[in-house]
This record gives sequence, structure tokens and C-alpha cells, in this order.
Amino acid sequence: MLIVNKTVAIVGGGPGGLTLARLLQMKGATVKVYERDLNKQVRVQGATLDLHEESGLKALHEAGLMAAFKANYRPGAGRVRVLDKNAVIVADEHEHHSHEQERHEQEGHEQKGYEQKEYEQNGYEHHDLKESRPEIDRGPLRNILLESLLPETVVWNSHFKSLSGGGGGGDEANGNGWRLEFQNGSYAMADIVIAADGANSKIRPFVTSIIPFFAGLTAIEGAVYDSEIAAPRIHSLLKGGKIFAFGDDKSLIVSAKGDGSLAFYAGCKTDEHWHSNHGVDFTNKAQVLSWFRKEFSGWDSVWCDLFEQASSPCLVRPQFCVPLDQAWEAQPNLTLLGDAAHLMPPYAGEGVNMAMLDALELSVCLLGNDFPDIQTAIAHYEQQMRPRAAAAASMTLDSMALLHSPDAITFMTSIIKQLE
Ligand SMILES: Cc1cc2nc3c(=O)[nH]c(=O)nc-3n(C[C@H](O)[C@H](O)[C@H](O)COP(=O)(O)OP(=O)(O)OC[C@H]3O[C@@H](n4cnc5c(N)ncnc54)[C@H](O)[C@@H]3O)c2cc1C
Repeated sequence: MLIVNKTVAIVGGGPGGLTLARLLQMKGATVKVYERDLNKQVRVQGATLDLHEESGLKALHEAGLMAAFKANYRPGAGRVRVLDKNAVIVADEHEHHSHEQERHEQEGHEQKGYEQKEYEQNGYEHHDLKESRPEIDRGPLRNILLESLLPETVVWNSHFKSLSGGGGGGDEANGNGWRLEFQNGSYAMADIVIAADGANSKIRPFVTSIIPFFAGLTAIEGAVYDSEIAAPRIHSLLKGGKIFAFGDDKSLIVSAKGDGSLAFYAGCKTDEHWHSNHGVDFTNKAQVLSWFRKEFSGWDSVWCDLFEQASSPCLVRPQFCVPLDQAWEAQPNLTLLGDAAHLMPPYAGEGVNMAMLDALELSVCLLGNDFPDIQTAIAHYEQQMRPRAAAAASMTLDSMALLHSPDAITFMTSIIKQLE
């Protein structure tokens, strides 16, 4: 393997960085993950993620973690209800599934879930998941990956600050290798650095000066703990799955989580600087509610429950995307993956899947003997990663535009029908 006797520093312990660490460690590579969080528990992880057969699930499969995934994924959590702004259900995957279930029972099918049968018919026999795009909460996914690593692999409280050197061998005495500095004053040396530090990557500028562009939309993110008690009307609409509500070129996306909470995102078209000049204190519940009532005026009062019952301050998330034609020269011992490489808005559920597939493809390039040196291996990885991610980003931008247009409901309903 190319990286024998090399030390690899992965900056960022999100799904991309941890998947890479696992895949490299499985083949005996020396790897550390430097993560800014103080410890494993410090941050509540966001909403559910659907993993795709050809990307996220493929990476987990190669990482030998499908059994752990099956023990933790949430059957049915991906079932979608599409609602209009009046909270009228216009398409319902729950209904479709219960009709199908009934039909199969009447036809005397064996106990096996109908989804499982369809799944098998599609040729996905290598595991027995009941859904083609199974959902898992972000927290359990992170735990699965963390628990798969050797002790002390993740160095918590390592908020990356700067990078210097890069001249080969991670040997401080000889002045070679990368020197990574962290905000707490500590530092580390490494032969190879992989940036997996997400949307606002601090390492990306060491690879390329290309910056993401504003995609025209801002999402307000919030959470309601114990939603059955705190927001019972929304809770029963959710039915353990997802709500996509559309109207007036705006969206409300709500997901039930396994811990009894729900996560929501309200999307609206804004200008690039709205997040700094909207004049709303999004940590103040009264101000947020008043903003929502004004911005979503004419929407049913049930939606206000989300903002009235929000358990923590809402977050303002302007949506950015990297240029689809981005390119750079491969470096000898530094590369990017996941959002650090190809940030895109989250309106097609591709971000985490792309990050995990990056990890898989990069690990194959670094662990094999197909390339004469690490730089060529990195170049090969980047040449396949960029167009693949650009295709996903292009689809995401199209989807985001349609979901915030007068055709949103028709579009979302057609997607559900395709997946049935
Ligand atoms: C509101 C929202 C909803 C989303 N919904 C979906 C969805 O449904 N499906 C989907 O596929 N994708 C979704 N995404 C996108 C998805 O979260 C990302 O694409 C995915 O998490 C990228 O993985 P990553 O490992 O590259 O980066 P991240 O998950 O962002 O992980 C980066 C890690 O690096 C750490 N870090 C950051 N800076 C530093 C630093 N300076 N030093 C050290 N560590 C650092 C962070 O703490 C974090 O642990 C959503 C994103 C958002 C914001």
C-alpha cells in the first residue's frame, strides 16, 4: 500500500472523515482524526439521513458496518407526507405502504415485508434492509463509526487553526511533513492531511482559492424535543416520518428523530446577505415566531407550533454551493473530501452520501498499489470525485429551485411516485 509507514491526519470527525479513518485503519494505516468538538457527547447531532445503495451504504458495507447499521437504522423514518400550506395532506407514503401491506397479506404472501421483496427483486441481496434508502439519525451513525475505530484515534478538542510545511515525512525533528496547529495551542505532525472539516473548511484554501457561491436560499433550522407532548398536532402529522410542506415558493421540512424529538427547516428565498441584516434575533423565541408569522403569512397556524415549541435557538443557514466546474492541481500529500470539497445545499439528500463515497474512493486510491506515488493517487481520486459531486450538486440545485417554486407540490409528489 502507498501509505505504508505514513501518518495520516484527517481533520474533521463527521461522516466523511470517520468513514475514511475506519477504511484506512482496517488495512493497518496509521491515522488520527482531529475533531474540534470537545468530546463525543458535546453536540446534539442533527436530523435523519437517508443512505443510498450506491454511495453511503456502499461505504458502510466496505467498512464492515452493515450489521451495526441494521441495528440502528429507523425503518419507516423516510416515509414522506407532502402537505400544502394549509396543512392538507396531498400525498402520503404511509397510506401507500399500508395499502401495499394489506394487499400482500390478502394475497397470502409470507411474512416478509413487501419492501424487502421489492428490494431483493432489485438485486440488493447482500443485506436484508427493508428499504432502498434507509434512514438513520446522525447521532447513531456517528456512534457506529466512532465505535469502529481503535481507541484514541479521534483527538477531541482539536479545532484546526493552521497548516504549515508539507514537504514529506511527518518528522518534526527533520522539519518535514505537515504541522497542524489547533486553537488550544496543541499541534500534530503528519505525512498526509485530509480535510474533512465540512462546509466552512479551514483547510480548503490550502488546496484551492475557489469559493462557494450563494445558492439563493436561506434555511432556518430548529428542533422540538419530546414532540409528542410539545407539538402533538405536528407529531401526529409526522407519524414517525417526514413532512414536506410547500407554498408561496417556501418550504417547511420536518423530520421525526429516534429520540422523540423532531428537526425542522424553513426555507425561503433571500439575498446573500440576509443572514447578517435580517434584524431578527433568532435566539429570541418571540422574535422568531413573529418573523415566521410574517414570512409565512397565510400558512395554517399548526406550523407555528414548531417555532413556539422550539427547544433551542433556531439557526440561520444560508445555502452555498461550490461551482460545478471547479478544478485544481492535485497536491502531493493534501486533499479534501465531503462538504470541504463540494459543499451543496441539502435538498436532494446527497451531501452525506457523497462524503462517505469520497472516503471509500480515496481509501481505495491510497491503500492500493495502482499508482506510482501518493500525488498520482490523490489526482485520480479528485478526478473522479469532482464530476460525480458536480452531478449531485446540479441535481440538488434543480431540486431546490423546484421545491421553492409554484410547482413544488407536483414535483415532490412525482418524486414520491417514482420511489414507490
Ligand atoms: C440543515 C442541514 C440538513 C441536511 N440534511 C441532509 C440530508 O438529509 N441528507 C444528506 O445527505 N445531507 C444533508 N445535509 C448535508 C450533510 O450534513 C453534509 O453533506 C455531510 O454531513 C457532510 O459530511 P462531512 O463529513 O463532509 O462534513 P460534516 O458532517 O460537516 O463534518 C465536519 C466535521 O468537522 C468538524 N470540524 C469543522 N471545522 C473544524 C476545524 N476547524 N477543526 C476540526 N474539526 C472541525 C465538525 O465539528 C464536524 O464534526 C444537511 C446539512 C444541513 C446543514
